[in-house]
Amino acid sequence: MIKKHNVLFFALLIVLISTNGFANWISNPRDIKQALNDVYREYKDKKGGKNADYIPELAKVDPTLFGIAIVTVNGDIQSIGDADVPFAIESISKPFIYALALHDNGEKIVTEKVGLNATGHSFNSVMAIEEKQDHLQNPLVNAGAIQITSLIKGKTSHEKWQRALDFIKKLSDGNPYLGKSVYQSEMATNQHNRGIAELLDSYGMMASDPLDAVDRYTKACSIMITARQLALMGATLANQGVNPQTHQRVISSKEVQDVLSEMVINGLYENSGIWFWTVGIPAKSGVGGGILAVVPGKMAIAVFSPPLDKAGNSVRAQQVIKEISQRWNLHLLGNKNMNRI
Ligand code: GLU
Repeated sequence: MIKKHNVLFFALLIVLISTNGFANWISNPRDIKQALNDVYREYKDKKGGKNADYIPELAKVDPTLFGIAIVTVNGDIQSIGDADVPFAIESISKPFIYALALHDNGEKIVTEKVGLNATGHSFNSVMAIEEKQDHLQNPLVNAGAIQITSLIKGKTSHEKWQRALDFIKKLSDGNPYLGKSVYQSEMATNQHNRGIAELLDSYGMMASDPLDAVDRYTKACSIMITARQLALMGATLANQGVNPQTHQRVISSKEVQDVLSEMVINGLYENSGIWFWTVGIPAKSGVGGGILAVVPGKMAIAVFSPPLDKAGNSVRAQQVIKEISQRWNLHLLGNKNMNRI
C-alpha cells in the first residue's frame, strides 16, 4: 500500500525536478550569503590588472576595493565587502541608455542608425568606424553609445540628461548621482571621444549636436553607483523590466530582450565571445571596475574591483562571476538550463 507521506515525498521530488531544483540554483538567501562569503574569501587577496589611468580620477581609486552584490528577481539583496562604496558606472550605463533610446525612438530607428554587431575592436576604436562602409557600430562601444545618447529625447540638453539620470534612478533605488569630479576629469581628457563624435557627425550619423552628445554621454559614464544599486538595476532586467523592489515597470520586456542580446554580443568589449563561451551570462563591464551580469528570470550579480585587464574588464569581477556561474550552473546554454529554452 502506498503511504500518504510517500506520495507527498514523490510529489515534492517532482516539483523540485520540474522547477530545476537540482540545477544547483540557489534561491535561499542564506545559501546565497554563504556562497558570497566563500567566493569573497577566495578572491579577496588575488592580484592582477591595473586601474584605468587614461581618466585621471579613475587612477586614484583604491585598487584593493572589492565588493559583490546579488539581487534576485524577488528583490532579495545580499552583499559582501565594499558593496556600498560608490564608483563610476562608466560603460555599464550604456545598456541602460540604449533601453531609453529604444523607448524614445523605437527599435527600427535605433538599429538602423547604430548597428548591432560586435566590432572585434577596442571600445573606443576609430578603425572600427572607418573600416566599415556603413560605419555602423553597436550601442555598447563608445561610438554607438555616443550616437545612442544623441537619440535621447528632450526639449533641452539638460532635460535629455535629466531623463537619462532619472531612468537610471528608477531602475535602481533612486540614489545614483552624477560624480562631479569624475565628470570633470573625463571632460578634461576626452578628446578621443570628441573626435569619434565629430567623425560620426561627418557621416551624418548623429541625431543631435555631437559635442553636446559627448557631454551627456560623459555625464552618464560619471554616474556614481554602488554594487548593491547596480545589482538592483540588473535584477530589473532579470525581472523582465520590473524593478523587483519598487514593483514598477521601467523597461518593456521586448526592450529587455534587446538589451540583454547586446550584452551577450558586446558586453565585454573584444572579449565578449570568450566571456559568453565560458561564463554564459549576459554582462556589461565598465572601466570604473564594475561588471554587471544578468541571469534572466533569476538574479543579477554586480562586482566592483578597479584593476582591469588589457581589454578594460575588471580582472577580479570576471573571476568572481565565472566562479558563481560554474558553482550554480548558470550558463544559459548549459545542459541544466536547456529545459527552459
Ligand atoms: N567613459 C569611458 C570612455 O568613454 C567609458 C569606457 C568604458 O567604461 O568602457 O572611455
